[in-house]
Amino acid sequence: SGKWARTVTILKELEDTFGTPIGKLKQIADAMMVEMHAGLASEGGSKLKMLISFVDNLPTGDEKGLFYALDLGGTNFRVLRVLLGGKEGRVVKQESKEVSIPQDLMTGTSQELFDFIATALAEFVATEGEGLHVSSGRQRELGFTFSFPVRQTSIASGNLIKWTKGFSIEDAVEKDVVGELTKAMERMGLDMRVSALVNDTIGTLAGGRYHNQDVIAAVILGTGTNAAYVERANAIPKWQGLLPKSGEMVINMEWGNFRSSHLPLTEYDHALDAESKNPGEQIFEKVISGMYLGEIVRRVLYRMAEEAAFFGDTIPPKLNIPYILRTPEMSAMHHDMSSDLKVVGNKLKDILEITNTSLKMRKVIVEVCDIVATRGARLSAAGIVGILKKLGRDTVRDGDTQKSVIALDGGLFEHYKKFSGCMESTLKELLGEEVAENVVVELSNDGSGIGASLLAASHSQYL
Ligand code: ADP
Ligand code: MG
Repeated sequence: SGKWARTVTILKELEDTFGTPIGKLKQIADAMMVEMHAGLASEGGSKLKMLISFVDNLPTGDEKGLFYALDLGGTNFRVLRVLLGGKEGRVVKQESKEVSIPQDLMTGTSQELFDFIATALAEFVATEGEGLHVSSGRQRELGFTFSFPVRQTSIASGNLIKWTKGFSIEDAVEKDVVGELTKAMERMGLDMRVSALVNDTIGTLAGGRYHNQDVIAAVILGTGTNAAYVERANAIPKWQGLLPKSGEMVINMEWGNFRSSHLPLTEYDHALDAESKNPGEQIFEKVISGMYLGEIVRRVLYRMAEEAAFFGDTIPPKLNIPYILRTPEMSAMHHDMSSDLKVVGNKLKDILEITNTSLKMRKVIVEVCDIVATRGARLSAAGIVGILKKLGRDTVRDGDTQKSVIALDGGLFEHYKKFSGCMESTLKELLGEEVAENVVVELSNDGSGIGASLLAASHSQYL
């Protein structure tokens, strides 16, 4: 029928407009490298903030003692207690608790949010068991992983630049987030000092390096996306301070805010962005990360319902609700291996209240998931190649066997296998076989929590 022909036409258009041919990816990798240079050259020199983390030494393995970590940056926050045993003992013991953040706190006041966090932290501290106490007379120390853009003023202080990922707490912007947390802990009567403020990328880099000395960069693919890497301190023109002894400085790229005229942005992306809490910002994040992939699929399906009567004569009302289709559900549909695409059918019924879908329709929906996920995965790979280029690690010199390991973390990368698989194969495609042999992507499952505790240890007031 004419309706079906229209559906096929829309699918063809999608394949075209979401397309990421290798030439385009190379342009994007180049653009990423160029923006990295610009962001390092001067403050505000690029959409890439290239934030200086004040981490100039990554973990060595000698870290010892009991440390806490707090990870705030998405829908959940986690508290951790880690007993570090130095080179011999490594991570002797680790305990954690995850708490989901009530929706209203994500858009309330700074005090409400930090009081909620400090309360959960105090409750967790109260469960310290045998052998898991700090030495007497010592203050507990915390590595605070705060995964929003922060302009650091030292290793343990920094002002929030802006919120991302659906958070919007106006009175916290420009404030020192360590000060906010410290005040809340004082209100709760919790005696704890924040000794390191890091981003999840920095935490993942630190945790990754602790396990593997060849880790040079970390990438987060979760609710949002970001990357950090180890830069030569003398390659950071905007750095006014003394050159660190190590000669190195970890840079938090805030790559979610990358944009380039080469990015294959579609009408769906423009509409999603315009209706988001942060229009015009985090464009790379909005085409790649877990918060948005399902929403892009929903927008495409809405368009198919509207223009091709894909679901029948009326548009299913639920399909009009922003963010109703979450990325884990999209992923479940995309991975449906059953011959009748049962999972797709059930998801459509349960989430969108769409019943009686034919196999032919379900196949189209899987195809839409594939188109949207593939673009995100291939663009992520291009971003990583941009970093490798910046470091001169995208080529092999004679006999060079130096490994470049990228630590990856985040629920999207961990659970969305078609996404991570596509990202890794695209990386090989972009680098070529020879170089790809020396580039390793390593899942650093919760490296960020351990990493923050390691950095708390290496910046302890008792050293
Ligand atoms: P955060 O990024 O919020 O710190 P995570 O790293 O755990 O937290 O990532 C959670 C995100 O990962 C979710 O918002 C979701 O987008 C994505 N995700 C989680 N599970 C899956 C899944 N099974 N398939 C695809 N994406 C998933
Ligand atoms: Mg996280």
